[in-house]
Amino acid sequence: MNDQLRIPDERSLSQEEISLLEWLLGHKRTDVSEYRAQIPKLRVVSRCRCGCPTIDFAIGTTTREGPSQIIADAQGSSPEGVRVGVIVHVREGEISELEVYSVTGEKNVFSLPKPESLVPWLIDSTPAEIPRFHR
Ligand SMILES: [Zn+2]
Repeated sequence: MNDQLRIPDERSLSQEEISLLEWLLGHKRTDVSEYRAQIPKLRVVSRCRCGCPTIDFAIGTTTREGPSQIIADAQGSSPEGVRVGVIVHVREGEISELEVYSVTGEKNVFSLPKPESLVPWLIDSTPAEIPRFHR
């Protein structure tokens, strides 16, 4: 997390954000029930400055800043027809970020993909290289 790329945005998660997290964690072959249980406790604490729907979370009062572990990812399309990838990051044992990026890198301003458009990554492990066009 880089503060220059983030805007503070203290709020509850939208129903759409909750549905997306539930979908992402519900399509894992590995057991992520420990993280699914965190979803109702999450608050949004900041969002990406570039216009994409990437958001950062906190559970308690402290934002977790440690190294990121990717626990779920998928590809889909936004309502605007932008091909997007979504990634759930965990830091220090807490869900800390829902990252959404344009696969083509052409456009940063788009909405969250609908869960019905999503396809999980086929290999149930962290992809070696995920493009991060919006950073
Ligand atoms: Zn962004």
